[in-house]
Amino acid sequence: MDLYTKFVSTALFPLHERIKGHSTLDRFRELEKSQWADRADIEKFRNSRLQDFMVGIARDVVFYSDLFRNIGVDPRNIQRPTDLAMLPLLDKATVRANVEKLKSRSANGLARYNTGGSSGEPLVFFIGEARRSHDVAAKWRATRWWGVDIGDPEVVVWGSPIELSGQDRVRSLRDALLRSRLLPAFDMSNPRLDKFIEKILRWKPRMLFGYPSALSLIAMRAESKGMCLADCGLRVVFCTSERLYDHQRNLIQRVFGCPVANGYGARDAGFIAHECPHGGMHISAEDVIVEIVDKNGAIAPQGESGEIVVTHLATQDFPFVRYRTGDIGVLDHGYCGCGRQLPMLKNIEGRTTDFVTASDGTVMHGLSLIYVLRDIVEIASFKIVQESTHRLVVKLVANIGFNDSVGDKIRRELQGRLGRDVVVEIELVDMIAPEASGKFRYVTSKVPLRCAD
Ligand SMILES: [Zn+2]
Repeated sequence: MDLYTKFVSTALFPLHERIKGHSTLDRFRELEKSQWADRADIEKFRNSRLQDFMVGIARDVVFYSDLFRNIGVDPRNIQRPTDLAMLPLLDKATVRANVEKLKSRSANGLARYNTGGSSGEPLVFFIGEARRSHDVAAKWRATRWWGVDIGDPEVVVWGSPIELSGQDRVRSLRDALLRSRLLPAFDMSNPRLDKFIEKILRWKPRMLFGYPSALSLIAMRAESKGMCLADCGLRVVFCTSERLYDHQRNLIQRVFGCPVANGYGARDAGFIAHECPHGGMHISAEDVIVEIVDKNGAIAPQGESGEIVVTHLATQDFPFVRYRTGDIGVLDHGYCGCGRQLPMLKNIEGRTTDFVTASDGTVMHGLSLIYVLRDIVEIASFKIVQESTHRLVVKLVANIGFNDSVGDKIRRELQGRLGRDVVVEIELVDMIAPEASGKFRYVTSKVPLRCAD
């Protein structure tokens, strides 16, 4: 670790968090210690937090006071993860319909977020201080598993056009001090990919962070030009937010000459699990309880795959209890070679997003279209199919209030991204059927992706 990294991770970043009123450093110190505890101790600690959490939300959150009363369950009786089965699963529609009732009376530092981007179901929700500190601390811990730390030079391949334009000077200054630089992942045309490669070579980051789809596109482009980026000093590539396929992992490892570390989490469900150098996807089990349920919502037999359902114990300000992620996985109660006894997830089949191609040939990440739709309250869920470079079909399940002018707005904005000559067809449907493969794809493109010239 160089001196500057040490300064950032031990002084500057903790100071930044303290000034903002976050308890990140305390949480981080606890997590650094508890990751080496015996599984029985982790469970004991987690179970006592579970009980306090349930009693707290039954007292302070209207949605849960009502729920416990209606189903006749005493919150003090929820003492271990198997007791959670007494409570119903929580889906996005329920969160959407109860946003105000889900806010705790004693909420601290609630901030509004939206997501649904890659899940096809837009959602507005809130995050309090405790959860934010937990998620930052858990991410920090997992970063250090790979021999890098906050403050090490980092390149982030990320961002929505909206978020980028809203980035203020304070944020830029913070990123500069933390040595974090951003490459916007939306326009992935060959000239842009070449610029990305040039910048990575010039900046010499120690870690890369981003969508596996975008990072593998950069790697594919570099390889097609006979370039190897293995000498630029990268220690690790962190992939997140999408399913990581083996071929993507192999390609990225080969071109960047360092291991790929997979992360599993989402804005709504939180920081759930992260891969260690021994290949274990360790759950942040001090605060996150993962259940695997079958298609009827019952707990799947041990070792069988099913939908990942999450209870996040740092969400007392806006609870996520038995929250359905829509992702598929298997719980692994084995022991990892790294010595950490945190339980693991395996075979995670998260969401996937295709790239789309504009009518002028520009390749863009599918999220650039999703951002048009995700904050429109008149949409319940959607799926975008790019039939050709000049025809796009948007399937929508509409909420109350959807009308022609909302449709026109969607059409205009999508044409703004893809080209004025693109025909955007909006199809109103009752439900979005999953793909035959069971994969989660909310943006699919039938246009073959051309990377190399
Ligand atoms: Zn491990």
